[in-house]
Amino acid sequence: MPEDDPPLTLRDLEAISVSRLRDVGRKRASALTKMEIDSVLDLLQHYPRRYIDRTRQARIAELAPGEEVFVEGSVERSSSRPTRRRQKLVEAVITDGTGRLKLTFFNQPWQEESLRPGRQVVVFGSPKPFRGSLQMTNPVVDLVGDRTGRFFAVYPQSEKASVSTWEIARFVEQALNRCRPRGILDPVPAAVLERFQFVGRHTALDGIHRPEAMRESSEARRRLMFDELLRVQLELVRRKRRLERHTAGLSHAVGGELIDRFLARLPFPLTGAQQRAIDEIADDLAKPHPMHRLMQGDVGAGKTVVALCALLTAVQGRFQGALMAPTEVLAEQHHRTMVSLLGDLSVPDESRLGGERPLRVELLSGSRGAADRRRAAAGLAAGDVDIVVGTHALISEGLEYRALGVVVIDEQHRFGVEQRAVLRDRGPGSVMPDLLVMTATPIPRTAAMTVYGDLDVSVLDELPAGRLPVATSWARGPLEEAQVWEAVRAAASAGRQAYVVCPVIEESEALDVRSVTETHERLTGDGGELAELQVGLLHGRVSPAEKEATMELFRSGALDVLVSTTVIEVGVDVPNATVMVVVDAGRFGIAQLHQLRGRVGRAQHESSCYLVGEAATAEAEARLTAVVASNDGFDLAEADLELRGEGTIMGERQKGRNDLRLASLRRDKEWVAIARGVAIEMLDADPDLEGCPALADEIDLILGDRDAEFLLKS
Ligand code: ADP
Ligand code: MG
Repeated sequence: MPEDDPPLTLRDLEAISVSRLRDVGRKRASALTKMEIDSVLDLLQHYPRRYIDRTRQARIAELAPGEEVFVEGSVERSSSRPTRRRQKLVEAVITDGTGRLKLTFFNQPWQEESLRPGRQVVVFGSPKPFRGSLQMTNPVVDLVGDRTGRFFAVYPQSEKASVSTWEIARFVEQALNRCRPRGILDPVPAAVLERFQFVGRHTALDGIHRPEAMRESSEARRRLMFDELLRVQLELVRRKRRLERHTAGLSHAVGGELIDRFLARLPFPLTGAQQRAIDEIADDLAKPHPMHRLMQGDVGAGKTVVALCALLTAVQGRFQGALMAPTEVLAEQHHRTMVSLLGDLSVPDESRLGGERPLRVELLSGSRGAADRRRAAAGLAAGDVDIVVGTHALISEGLEYRALGVVVIDEQHRFGVEQRAVLRDRGPGSVMPDLLVMTATPIPRTAAMTVYGDLDVSVLDELPAGRLPVATSWARGPLEEAQVWEAVRAAASAGRQAYVVCPVIEESEALDVRSVTETHERLTGDGGELAELQVGLLHGRVSPAEKEATMELFRSGALDVLVSTTVIEVGVDVPNATVMVVVDAGRFGIAQLHQLRGRVGRAQHESSCYLVGEAATAEAEARLTAVVASNDGFDLAEADLELRGEGTIMGERQKGRNDLRLASLRRDKEWVAIARGVAIEMLDADPDLEGCPALADEIDLILGDRDAEFLLKS
């Protein structure tokens, strides 16, 4: 590579196959492919798992039992034999000149091959006394090869692919050496680098792979982690703005008479957070481009009132509003709540005699008769229906709106890009209706910036005054469980009601049904804990009509207890229910448990939540402990992120974020916010990144189309 060529971009590195490196023959190349390393870029982004500092290693002669240490030595001998349980036992002895250390490995047959006599290795573990000397069982082993120097990197490796960390280090070193003459381009504006005192990208890549001091590797990590976050934020913010620029939306008239009437008749004052969210939404609605806003709010925070304000704004300007719920039960629930909050509200209408007309709200549901549904559909097409509530059917083919202006979707994760396109088709003259998505599963603010970075976010982080926290306890044994059923009976005799929720079993509906049915039988059969009470049963196989009938019985108080799978998870509102029992609670996630708990404590009665059952794993134990300890959805979201790491909390949407190799939404959360700020600044000055073509290009390269799709998908 001649020296006067321009510095290498990530796209250049992507174009060079690893097989062009010396020593990477066909066998190594295909092994690397198994590790998803095909290009030099992949190789350089295969970051070390950790570093070994040779000055901190322990000498074999000085080892103390029980202490975690690493030891470097050479393999003296190794052998293997089958154990009684037909596993393979590999034994080896290493020496470092001060003594000998015995290693044993159970069920790791490949260790025999890697621990050939004469090889230089580093082992991590804690030595335990065994027959008079110390030995390590199943330590972590790294081959050192001929690496010299004080520090060296240890790479994630896969046993199957049979490329050792030391070979990877050699390939990386070669690749870096061959980049040296041209250098690696730094696409981030110098002013940004200076502001945060970042090292250059080439230095960072050198420093992360071949640090000469620990500080170098941490500086390198800081820089490369920022690049990852900046790329994602630039992409998300750019996308959001493109959508705003290129999609025609409605400019609603906000803050009129209808909203005032509605707010005036509410039996309670708005919380500060509700008022804030209503204002944010009104700002969006007034603008000529479509709103894409997420409203995050803990259970019971009062999202419905806020949603109604958005819908009524549409109605006031003679548009229609639609509220879409994930299930029939919830659609009915929302409809009922809305009707009671709206009462006999009338709409100012100058075209009418008297200047008023009644507000018309309809439910479009499977449990309604065909004639009812036809009438509602006709009303929507004619524009007589102002607000419609339903499930996905609301955006199905064949349902026509005269002028759909605002759509509210309860629970975002079942709503993707395709549906957004459908929404546009439902809007008046291909104008996109404004969209408000609400979720009761809060995620931490900085995580939201990445997961929902293409949406604006309003947060309801304040509960209405006077709510009593739900007393939560964990019933771990049979005695405690007996007390739980005692509490259910006590609540019922005081005129209150209870839920009993059973977990979803291995994604199989048949099994769920069986488990919940069995629980129902166990509790209500002869001698059952709840045999004296009226107990209803709900699960996935119950027809919509039957479901609604059971819910109605529960709502009316005819049932004392409702045993169900998680169909009641979100949104069900029966203020008289004061006890929530979660069976086999260790199987539920934190967010789900918190949701379930949110079903009680909705009125002024003291409420309680019982988590029943042992925790099968340490993680389950930590989850249950967290839910017992806090009633705050945002705190719990943080705890969840801590426990599970970002991968799982993000679900589907996160899959596209595969550029986050170093950055962690948890550990680096302040950097997420910083990167978003920088992205906004840069795009304010230069909306299409014309001044930073290399940066724009690597965003396309790394967050290419396939991933970009995911960015918008829920
Ligand atoms: P969620 O955010 O869980 O959907 P809802 O909108 O269902 O909450 O509201 C929960 C309950 O709180 C409802 O009964 C609602 O009428 C009531 N509520 C809403 N806002 C307030 C408020 N500002 N003050 C008191 N009660 C409120
Ligand atoms: Mg609700």
